[in-house]
Amino acid sequence: MVQSPSRLTDAPPSPDVKALVEKQRAYFETRTTLPLQWRREQLQALDRAAHKYEAEILAALKSDLSKSPEEAYLTEVGSIYGEIKNALKNVKGWMKPRRALAPVVIQPARAYQYADPLGVTLIIAPWNYPYQLSIAPLIGALAAGCTAVLKPSELAPATSRVLARMLGEAFPPEVVSVVEGGVEASKALLAERWDLIFFTGGTQVGRVVAEAAAKHLTPTILELGGKSPCIIDRSADLEVTARRIAWGKYVNAGQTCIAPDYVLIPPELKGRFTELVQKAVRSFYGNDARASSDYGRIISTRHFERISALAADGKVAFGGDRDAASRYFAPTVITDAPLSSSLMQEEIFGPLLPIVDCPSLDEAIRFVRARPKPLALYSFARDASVNERVLAETSSGGAVVNDVCVHFAVEGLPFGGVGESGLGGYHGRASFDAFSHKKSVVKRPFALDVKLRYPPYGGKLGLFKRFM
Ligand code: NAD
Repeated sequence: MVQSPSRLTDAPPSPDVKALVEKQRAYFETRTTLPLQWRREQLQALDRAAHKYEAEILAALKSDLSKSPEEAYLTEVGSIYGEIKNALKNVKGWMKPRRALAPVVIQPARAYQYADPLGVTLIIAPWNYPYQLSIAPLIGALAAGCTAVLKPSELAPATSRVLARMLGEAFPPEVVSVVEGGVEASKALLAERWDLIFFTGGTQVGRVVAEAAAKHLTPTILELGGKSPCIIDRSADLEVTARRIAWGKYVNAGQTCIAPDYVLIPPELKGRFTELVQKAVRSFYGNDARASSDYGRIISTRHFERISALAADGKVAFGGDRDAASRYFAPTVITDAPLSSSLMQEEIFGPLLPIVDCPSLDEAIRFVRARPKPLALYSFARDASVNERVLAETSSGGAVVNDVCVHFAVEGLPFGGVGESGLGGYHGRASFDAFSHKKSVVKRPFALDVKLRYPPYGGKLGLFKRFM
């Protein structure tokens, strides 16, 4: 199963998983991964491999998800080059101990945070951005001086195979290994002891991962999903809002963790907004999105059927056409879905945009607060006080004002969820931090051994009160 480019079955776990983890641990114990030089060399090797395999990666993404090369570059391949470049440029600075202020009572002293590599790490990736979401965490692992085993998603088999070949060629297995397979492979990996598990996927499987991690008290980063709302205020530029939401909703046929899931809008704007979304869809994909090379397909028959069932939960305002054989599902807007329906309860993860009447900002905020904390939240208003209220009064992994999804592209911002949408964050420095343990260190000289803190304490209360 390890690094087998040809096999993607959900076969029983192979015993070599244990041997692989032991091999990586033995390597990590040699401390070879600690120096800056090693980390830079790994990042450079990854960069070379990514460039070398670029055409194959683009072809695999086309095969798995019908992604056009342009969309694949925009949303997966390009950002990886940026992340590697950023890590190469900054890893030296990230590795430097960070100073903290030592209080008077322990002076003379210097306080620091040292970044220790966590060690042997497991990365489990999903299928929707199967390249980006496998490699981005790996960049953090290598920059932080960790080894990694990557388990790509079995539902994007072409990308999984390319990743296995590309990383198998670029790295020895004790540094980076790819274990292909599905749930059984994942379970076999989760049964091992890791120093960090970095999981991207659904909230339900996130719980399975957290339970497995609890056995060894392994730290986890959980990049999960959920329903990311859009709140549209009366002051918003409706045309730009509709275009931006349509882009974020229908890119990758809606199979994006931070896709706008549903829209809360004053009822009198609903009709116009729906027309504008339709206009935007036509301008992106033409009158029939099926014929557009820029419009993706649903990953599997199971997901196609799930989305078809969700579409029946309300009235189709436009779209709704589908073709089971090619797993095409048209960009669709849905109105009048009951709030208790699956469409309004589950993460949609497909090209359906439900529109919900919401007459006031108070109500919109209440609506969001009454549900699990979303991965992303989008607020559209020209009135800045509206956006500030939304930001202050709701909790979400990330948020964007007057656009969708673009916070993902900011390397300086940690990307992650909160509550049911995830735990921890990454990208840029945050990726390095995710794979590091922040060791608190205080350094003191032997000289000047001030006796203040030593007993007997009699008569020292006044001094403590003064200095603490
Ligand atoms: P998933 O949770 O079904 O699978 C993710 C990974 O876990 C896969 O590699 C899969 O093989 C493995 N897996 C599945 N079931 C398992 C089990 N029972 N035990 C152990 N491992 C198991 O997710 P998915 O369908 O691949 O991706 C879609 C979900 O991922 C959506 O909910 C989406 O929001 C979320 N997602 C989140 C982010 C993020 O960055 N927060 C990014 C992309 C996707």
